[in-house]
Amino acid sequence: MARHLDGLPRNWHKAAAMTPALTRRQWFATAALGAFAVTPLAAAAAATTAVPATPAPVGPAGLTYDTDILVCGGGPAGVAAALNAARLGCKTLLIERYGRLGGMGVHARVWPLMGRVARNRLVREIQRKVGNFDPELADLHYADLLEQAGVKLLLHTWATGPLLRGNRITGVRAFSKQGTITLNAKLVIDATGDADIAAAAGVPCDIGREGDGLVQPMTIQFCVEGVADGARHCGGEEAARGAKLAGGETWESVTTRAQKSGELPPTVGVVRTYKMGRRGKACVNATQVNGLFGTNVEDLTRAELDGRRQAVRVVAFMRKHLPGYEHCYISHMPAVIGVRETRRIRGLAQLTRADLVAGRTWPDAIVRGATFGIDIHNPAGSGQAENRRDKSVQGSAARVKPYDIPARCVIPQNVDGLLVAGRCISGTHEAHASYRVQNISMAIGAGVGALAATALTDNTPPASTDIAKVQKILFTDA
Ligand SMILES: Cc1cc2nc3c(=O)[nH]c(=O)nc-3n(C[C@H](O)[C@H](O)[C@H](O)COP(=O)(O)OP(=O)(O)OC[C@H]3O[C@@H](n4cnc5c(N)ncnc54)[C@H](O)[C@@H]3O)c2cc1C
Repeated sequence: MARHLDGLPRNWHKAAAMTPALTRRQWFATAALGAFAVTPLAAAAAATTAVPATPAPVGPAGLTYDTDILVCGGGPAGVAAALNAARLGCKTLLIERYGRLGGMGVHARVWPLMGRVARNRLVREIQRKVGNFDPELADLHYADLLEQAGVKLLLHTWATGPLLRGNRITGVRAFSKQGTITLNAKLVIDATGDADIAAAAGVPCDIGREGDGLVQPMTIQFCVEGVADGARHCGGEEAARGAKLAGGETWESVTTRAQKSGELPPTVGVVRTYKMGRRGKACVNATQVNGLFGTNVEDLTRAELDGRRQAVRVVAFMRKHLPGYEHCYISHMPAVIGVRETRRIRGLAQLTRADLVAGRTWPDAIVRGATFGIDIHNPAGSGQAENRRDKSVQGSAARVKPYDIPARCVIPQNVDGLLVAGRCISGTHEAHASYRVQNISMAIGAGVGALAATALTDNTPPASTDIAKVQKILFTDA
């Protein structure tokens, strides 16, 4: 039997509001799930008094698709998962809520593709095709790959909840301009970045860091033009801190002074600029919206407005203080704010900081040799939570040794017929801060696609699928 928000009481949101004993962490988890309890149209209807009729969805309701593998989310993880599944002979359908593929990299314009993995043929192929030069064309490169592999693609299709039979997921319900769409699948891959489907299906999820449940901040990463030739770019946190201006003062001290005086917002303590490969153009990573949660619709509304207003102040600051940027102006605001961290599922295993620092290998690895520093943007203030130069700030930002990601981290607890790919797999807040980058998320997707296709072909649950076969697909001749 198909169910929408399984296990949630009908008035969950009222219950949450009336229960002061809820911890912040529990509230976030409950509120996050609540996004599914009120469909956009139902919410609009409830809020509307002047307009008598709720607009009906345009077009015929009740579209249905049947597929072997359904991938929800067209970010780097979802694209790689769908590609491998289709190439291994499975009928594969990918749905994406927005109009472009590429996930955060394209929607929030966070670029370039970062992180390294060892021996992964598919990741190398995607990297060659998508390149690291122009995020504006990345979505079309992703689409070419998917279409050539025979993946059925539905854009503007928002997964709203799982179809469940007992604890087995049998598909997903989605919302579109044509109304509700029913998507039946033998196996579902949740690559939404936020574990939307897993959470709504009842998979336990962790949120934020141990202790206070705070997540990494959201960021509006924008582009400026009008930058003078030869102007300084300092992309990394440490480069931005160490950079010396003409008078000998560091960029860091100018920024800190502006932060203290209120010229910059209190959460903006580091202003990083990146070269964009085009004359006069730079990308700016500086805004930071703290204390809000990236699947809570009121928080997202606030974050979008705060982040964009911060961007305007950052540009005014750069025009005044950063040589070469006197005439710069915002030439590109991203379509949506960048969301670094939301839900992380609980899987059959969980990756930890210790695993990454030790470079742990796993017998059921679906990603090998993942490498990227533990990059935690401060959930409670400005800058990084961990800093290689300042060992006093919540420990040092440990460099990782090349580490594996095991299949058990993508197989969720409690729900069958479901795999999870990308930044929402099973790991701690610190481990997530490393594997969340696009190349590693993509490699996770490639692994999940191969695992899903092998499980279906062999008619075995993913947890007991012959992992040697999956590894042969992933790592041979890579
Ligand atoms: C500000 C910022 C800067 C960053 N900088 C970099 C960087 O320089 N380099 C780098 O490599 N990484 C960077 N990252 C991290 C990186 O972009 C993401 O962690 C990565 O894209 C994760 O890939 P993913 O496929 O798991 O998720 P996402 O990229 O989030 O993709 C998920 C996709 O699913 C779709 N989706 C979500 N919910 C639904 C739904 N219910 N139904 C249908 N579709 C849905 C989304 O629209 C999206 O396309 C940055 C992130 C942020 C926020």
